[in-house]
Amino acid sequence: MTKVPELFGSMVFGDAAMKERLPKETYKALKKTIEDGKDLDIGVANVVANAMKNWAIEHGVTHFTHWFQPMTGTTAEKHDSFISPTPDGRVIMEFSGKELIKGEPDASSFPSGGLRATFEARGYTAWDPTSYAFIKDGILCIPTAFCSYGGEALDKKTPLLRSMETLNDQALRILRLFGNTQVKRVLTTVGPEQEYFLIDREMYEKRRDLKYCNRTLFGAKPPKGQEMDDHYFGSIRPRVSAFMKELDEELWKLGVLAKTKHNEVAPAQHELAPIFTTTNIATDHNQLTMEVMRRVAYRHGLACLLHEKPFAGVNGSGKHNNWSICTDTGENLLNPTDDPHGNLQFLLFLCAVIKGVDEYQDLMRVSVAGAGNDHRLGANEAPPAIISMFLGDELTNVLESIETDSDYTDQVKCNMEMGVHVLPNFQKDTTDRNRTSPFAFTGNKFEFRMLGSSLSIAGPNIILNTVVAEELRQFADELEKGGCFAQDVLKLIKRTMKEHKRIIFNGNNYSDEWVAEAEKRGLLNLKSTADCMPYFIHEKNVKLFTAHHIFTEAEMHSRYEIILENYCKTLNIEALTMLQMSKKSIIPAVSAYTKELTDAVLAKKQIGAEVAAEERLACELSSQLTCFVKAVDALDQALLGVKQFGEIGECAKYYREYVFAAMQELRGISDTMETFVSKKIWPWPTYGDLLFSV
Ligand code: ADP
Ligand code: MG
Repeated sequence: MTKVPELFGSMVFGDAAMKERLPKETYKALKKTIEDGKDLDIGVANVVANAMKNWAIEHGVTHFTHWFQPMTGTTAEKHDSFISPTPDGRVIMEFSGKELIKGEPDASSFPSGGLRATFEARGYTAWDPTSYAFIKDGILCIPTAFCSYGGEALDKKTPLLRSMETLNDQALRILRLFGNTQVKRVLTTVGPEQEYFLIDREMYEKRRDLKYCNRTLFGAKPPKGQEMDDHYFGSIRPRVSAFMKELDEELWKLGVLAKTKHNEVAPAQHELAPIFTTTNIATDHNQLTMEVMRRVAYRHGLACLLHEKPFAGVNGSGKHNNWSICTDTGENLLNPTDDPHGNLQFLLFLCAVIKGVDEYQDLMRVSVAGAGNDHRLGANEAPPAIISMFLGDELTNVLESIETDSDYTDQVKCNMEMGVHVLPNFQKDTTDRNRTSPFAFTGNKFEFRMLGSSLSIAGPNIILNTVVAEELRQFADELEKGGCFAQDVLKLIKRTMKEHKRIIFNGNNYSDEWVAEAEKRGLLNLKSTADCMPYFIHEKNVKLFTAHHIFTEAEMHSRYEIILENYCKTLNIEALTMLQMSKKSIIPAVSAYTKELTDAVLAKKQIGAEVAAEERLACELSSQLTCFVKAVDALDQALLGVKQFGEIGECAKYYREYVFAAMQELRGISDTMETFVSKKIWPWPTYGDLLFSV
């Protein structure tokens, strides 16, 4: 293997490549665009495009694509070759500045939620020079934003960039009030921890539910699940280890800072965490990571499952979005430093987060909505659907002492005594970790833990950035009026605590007591996607997003439609897959096995042998099969009922209440029958096979 520092970023047209290959003036102009958000001159773009093309061709590349993130939640690309015909019947390789900065993919086949009629097919992609071009699978990929002919955003990147802008503007106002004139730009940073399952590819191919829906729709619980707690951080098996090694290398080539890898709680479950970076780059990188995971798995005869709940009965997969705010001078604005009590600037930023999370709980919940994640939230493996935040005792005490004008005594940091002399003593953290909170302060950042594993992190970060920007705006408006600055800040902190401390909860979020307590505090508990989505378009939220120019009202309605449509379609596909698997495979299998049993009864009777066992089993299975066929009918009927709805929100509620319930019923009967039917006859690999296959 080449040395890692040489490998790292070798497939990225990043800063080093630009510096090396661009004329000084061009490099400077491009840097200005990247750093100050200035418009890109076409002359500069032409020079950059040519250098980029030459670099790509040296790496064996023949095609380029604008790489964008439509509302499907995955990424999209359309490959164009560099060839351009010459008069003498040959070709040369060309790539212009115009092709670099603007693309025109046919937008009609991407979800737009009514923003664009299908006959208005035009859509535009525009280069986002803050995210570097890279080579993936022999194709030069240019990260772009995607919008409609009318300029409405059709992707996840445009509003993310807008939200970073607004947070920058408002945070700078606050920093100036604190007398800071050095900082030119404030950014948010994200490190997303990605969970996934790895199973054997051959087995995956045998299951239509995995192929169509990315999750199992049937499957009896195996004798062994995760109850022994022997998988988490366990030693990594050779096949998985080979996969992880190649995954790291592929990601490093793409400039992704893959750092940590380990086994997760469920059998066959693993995690990868990168080192954090700027939010829009982290978003691109997380999309790339998911794609590369699938591709590398394929090469290793494995299937990588990124669904939130591929298997019932064991943990599902999430994605922890570690989020912070930092300056171009390298300061982390969420760092409490050694003296949080005296650090008013930190406390004010912290209060902006507290107030924002409380006032926009609904949006936080909406930002992680989706059919897959509904299986996880509140299922004792992930935080409940109730939004709250963990600050830890120290910070809570600091804030409470300000709220109540009481003295604050620093808890003495104590040493951890290991009781063995050869081990070093180290300073204990002032708070233990809380693993159950949906939004936990973890030292110098917040960890938003409600995200599902397949989700693009763009959505949650758009919400976080915008909500915090809004609170900072309100604070700045008030503080800029003048008066005694320190006093005014303290007043703001006090007021925030009085009005919003209900959102702070440092206890066990998985307990039933918390659900009851949260209700008393008036916190929302929006259990499913169908329940939470209507909040997205509430007046206060429309006001928030339009005021900060993140979404227009039309864009919000389009997103509301798209998310709910996606939810309904997902449940529809799952229901149809269940019906197909039931009719084509499960019923024939149970029937065949029952016949085998009855044949045995008849044959054994001829020699006068005992037949009670087969008889009992055949009768039992027959009556279960009758119930099963009735449940198939019920699901069929439930699906027919979908037709009556015009409004997508109503339709989603119906899917949740009736279709999903019918699916659960059907599954229950099949899973019982599975435990009785011969392994030879059962039509696909079982949970035991899948979970312990690698
Ligand atoms: P754990 O599994 O205990 O939550 P990890 O160390 O696996 O912790 O992951 C922590 C993540 O938080 C890493 O991706 C890390 O890069 C990220 N992180 C650390 N500091 C910051 C920061 N200032 N902003 C955003 N993310 C951060
Ligand atoms: Mg974590």
